[in-house]
Amino acid sequence: MPEVPSATELARAVRERATTSQALVQAALNRAGAARALNALVTLNDRAGEQAAEVDARLSAGEALPLAGVPVVVKDNLNVAGTRTTCGSRILSNYVSPYSATVVERLTQAGAVIVGKANMDEFAMGSSTESSAWGPTLNPWDPERVPGGSSGGSAVAVAANITPISLGSDTGGSVRQPAALTGVYGLKPTYGRVSRYGLVAYASSLDQVGPFARTAADLALVMNVLAGHDPRDATSLEAPPAFRTGTPQELRGLRVGVIRESLGGNTPGVEAALQGVLSALRDAGAVVSEVGVPSVQHAIAAYYLIATPEASSNLARYDGMVYGARVPAGDVMGSMTLTREQGFGREVQRRILLGTYALSSGYYDAYYSKAMRVRRLIADDFARAFAGVDLLITPTSPFPAFRRGEKTADPLAMYAADVDTVAINLAGLPALSVPAGFEEVDGRRLPVGVQFIAPALGDERLVALAGSLEGIGAVRLETPPGYGA
Ligand code: GLN
Repeated sequence: MPEVPSATELARAVRERATTSQALVQAALNRAGAARALNALVTLNDRAGEQAAEVDARLSAGEALPLAGVPVVVKDNLNVAGTRTTCGSRILSNYVSPYSATVVERLTQAGAVIVGKANMDEFAMGSSTESSAWGPTLNPWDPERVPGGSSGGSAVAVAANITPISLGSDTGGSVRQPAALTGVYGLKPTYGRVSRYGLVAYASSLDQVGPFARTAADLALVMNVLAGHDPRDATSLEAPPAFRTGTPQELRGLRVGVIRESLGGNTPGVEAALQGVLSALRDAGAVVSEVGVPSVQHAIAAYYLIATPEASSNLARYDGMVYGARVPAGDVMGSMTLTREQGFGREVQRRILLGTYALSSGYYDAYYSKAMRVRRLIADDFARAFAGVDLLITPTSPFPAFRRGEKTADPLAMYAADVDTVAINLAGLPALSVPAGFEEVDGRRLPVGVQFIAPALGDERLVALAGSLEGIGAVRLETPPGYGA
């Protein structure tokens, strides 16, 4: 059980007048200050106090607010009107958004207060939050290690107890992997379930906003606020949310398939956590089997040939003419070139080059269109697997948090961190990373997670499952030493 109040408990306390939104927001800002060394937040909202006072006034006026007074942080690729949106990049260092993302509007409408923007890998490209122009985010379980990425700041905000919930974005694993490496829940919803309006695009056909939380009840609470149709996002689905937490009884007869291709290649602690969850599921009456999803072996290759072309196109807009920084030069072309050369970091430049190459004439068929055919095979394999099981399970990451600098010189090693997560984005499916145990490495306890995958629109099933798992004691949620209430 978490040592600190959940969003559900905090909102209830505010509604019952046991505390105020202003008090909760001030406490969150104090904790953010105390945890500054983790570098989880890149911007604090200097109007958070005022906004908390407005929430208190709305409550007094009788408004029903499901997230009354709950302090929240959002990843720095989600627009909040009047606040910087940098995406962890120098090229957007001075960009102030004139509008808010739909998810931000929904949170504030529900009574939450955005206290800050979370650090991230530049433009969400990475698995360690080391490529941010504002420096790396540290893992509260071991400050020498990464928190995962790209939503590392959002994960750490919840793991280190700055806020009970936060938002990240997941294009290939960026919510689930940092959730696993910091020991909290991270949900990647079905593609289209949560609006992308106001999320700065990385790879639009894969991007999805998702929450971090410490309890199943908080996941249900925040998803009931976030999910639902948005006319401003053309890919948004008409699927009203109905999230709730499940009971242990609901595990009876549940068919869970372990993806065969995800076994092997995991560290002993990850393997042990997976086996621990499987045996708890069996004890509770679930039916566990092994299922092949053979094409997932090609997921990393396909992902990088689909995500980078989309990125090269999405990032073409950063030329210093409309948004963000501009480096002056003698002529327009010179200015655009210098702006992009100096504004983008190395990993972003690498991906723009790779993506442009994969789309270029003569290579399009060999790379991009072949990857798109593999994407179809992956989706078909998942559909076949779900004919026989209700949920699939894999480790979220094959290893716990790695050391800072360990993978920065080798992009392919960094890309391999997402071996268990990218296929789910290619198939558009929902998946939840659940804190499942700890692995001791060099005298440090490091969290590990397992990932449950549901068929499209099965998001509710995943959140219900989290509640069932909590009921049987299969969720290992702890607060890192020094970051308790
Ligand atoms: N690590 C993957 C990448 O770098 C996924 C990132 C993400 O989900 N945003 O593309």
